[in-house]
Amino acid sequence: MEQDESPAVSRQVPIVPYLRLPESGGETAHLVGSHCRQCGETYLGTRAICLKCLGANSMEEVVLSRRGQVFTYTVIHQSAPWVKVPYVAAVVKLPEGPLVRSVITDDESSEEVVVGMPVEMTTEIVRRDAAGNDIVAYRFRKTSNGRSLVSQGGQRE
Ligand SMILES: [Zn+2]
Repeated sequence: MEQDESPAVSRQVPIVPYLRLPESGGETAHLVGSHCRQCGETYLGTRAICLKCLGANSMEEVVLSRRGQVFTYTVIHQSAPWVKVPYVAAVVKLPEGPLVRSVITDDESSEEVVVGMPVEMTTEIVRRDAAGNDIVAYRFRKTSNGRSLVSQGGQRE
């Protein structure tokens, strides 16, 4: 392995391209989506063409809300030996529309998770790659105060 550059300080690398990590202080990690200016549909991640109206050149990148609600979930009791179980695999509905598959952090016991529960996105270092970079994934956790935040499509803090 060539090492032309000085031994790097560990960088944080998002596990998927639609997870954006803060590049400076004051920013927060967030998911990005594609919004169709023609029909209003919003998708998780980058899309060149709208699947709903087939509009081309109508897609724009948007920042997705960090908050949503548990749409559905299941408790995983068996997994690979290195994966801690049980954990909650959920689908989270964001106010902009997209459904996002994720894990609910084990800050909550699985018995506390219910459909409709307000959740907020957080990040977690899940492993380190061969170059020593931290691989960061997104997770969701119960919002700290349990308020419903999805009504009216707005993002309230
Ligand atoms: Zn469209």
